Amino acid sequence: AHLEQIAAVDGTLNAFLATNEEASIAAARAIDARRAAGETLGELAGVPLAVKDVLVTTDMPSTSGSKILEGYRSPFDATAVAKARAAGLVSIGKTNMDEFAMGSATENSAYGPTRNPWDTDRVPGGSGGGSAAAVAAFQSPLALGSDTGGSIRQPAALTGTVGAKPTYGGVSRYGAIALASSLDQIGPCARTVLDTALLHDVIAGHDHHDSTSLDFAWPSMAAAARGGADPASLKGLRVGVVKQLMLEGVQPGVKARFEETLAELTAAGAEIVEIDAPHFEYAVAAYYLILPAEASSNLAKYDSVRFGMRVNPAGGGTVENVMSETRAAGFGPEVKRRIILGTYALSAGYYDAYYGSAQKVRTLIQRDFAAAFEQVDVIASPTAPTTAWKLGTHGGDPMQDYLNDATTIPANLAGLPGLSLPIGTAAEDGLPVGLQLMAPAYEDARLYRAGAAIE
Ligand code: GLN
Repeated sequence: AHLEQIAAVDGTLNAFLATNEEASIAAARAIDARRAAGETLGELAGVPLAVKDVLVTTDMPSTSGSKILEGYRSPFDATAVAKARAAGLVSIGKTNMDEFAMGSATENSAYGPTRNPWDTDRVPGGSGGGSAAAVAAFQSPLALGSDTGGSIRQPAALTGTVGAKPTYGGVSRYGAIALASSLDQIGPCARTVLDTALLHDVIAGHDHHDSTSLDFAWPSMAAAARGGADPASLKGLRVGVVKQLMLEGVQPGVKARFEETLAELTAAGAEIVEIDAPHFEYAVAAYYLILPAEASSNLAKYDSVRFGMRVNPAGGGTVENVMSETRAAGFGPEVKRRIILGTYALSAGYYDAYYGSAQKVRTLIQRDFAAAFEQVDVIASPTAPTTAWKLGTHGGDPMQDYLNDATTIPANLAGLPGLSLPIGTAAEDGLPVGLQLMAPAYEDARLYRAGAAIE
């Protein structure tokens, strides 16, 4: 049924970069056969899963939305995908994304933009717009994403779906094509908080292939989500609202829905506490130095030798100009912009002024969070300041995309878990609005409990 839905709507949406019908039908039949033979399988066995193309898989190409990796085949599965397969999930396709996960609209994909199922003239958010649109359009009930500055949560908000960024290290990054390694986190997308939690449970846990993955006995996120079904679970919950996240640019209809949710939380017995986090206003500036710096280093490996495409200049060329012509042809404009910015920020003589200062701001943001979590259990904000915008309207002005991340970036800078869930639509345009919840590190389950109660 999901493959049929993909065939019916993906010509318009472009949520998928690749599907492999034969392999997915065979995998689904294999699960049926095991069940028929009396094997007890997990709750998600046989359920289709869409995989953001940032995760390498053996069954389909893995491009990270870039021309430089066109047709690239990985010899292994990313750990999150391997764990999903081991739990019986059926991988049905690779989803579209901004090139190397750089973007907030999926307009930076080398393979054309994905469209928002709510209004196909609008963007689905980014960078994981393909995964979010696939879930919203019933092409897949579950999807995997990556969140470096909001790429799971912001597309969830813009498509009326649910998405979680786990605590940094909660899910292995092995086989995730790196954007900014100190910020990247793999996470689940679905249509309900419980579905998201079920997928989270499957992919979480320590992996000896990723030294930053946490060796921690995670509680069941699904059990927490089921616990949240009891409305009494919101009683006494202290919910922080950060002054600095209620930006001037928040769209009126987004603000109205958010305030309505706070009123409902109060009515359910939660306590709303205003929080001052003075350094949050520098989060976007710090992120857009740290991310390009790390990305410029991570992307150095696309050198025309080890991975992907190679341009051979007419009449032959030196090693250096084969590399530079390959990178000139293989990378899109946003990727080039960030590589240039990142190498500049890291260059001798500028390191302290840019990368060093950004790292100090990062510490101050972590301290703001620590102080906030002495007063509250969770922090709530709109996931994104606006609803989905029309394709092409931010064209040529990357700052407009960057500013849309102001609400999601702080959690990445501090390594904290975040969850986005739908809270209705904005009055002025009828488009979905997302609520973001954030919690201290390791407290992902708290988000699922509260999220399920609010949902
Ligand atoms: N919009 C952010 C960026 O462009 C988010 C990236 C992400 O989370 N992968 O960097």
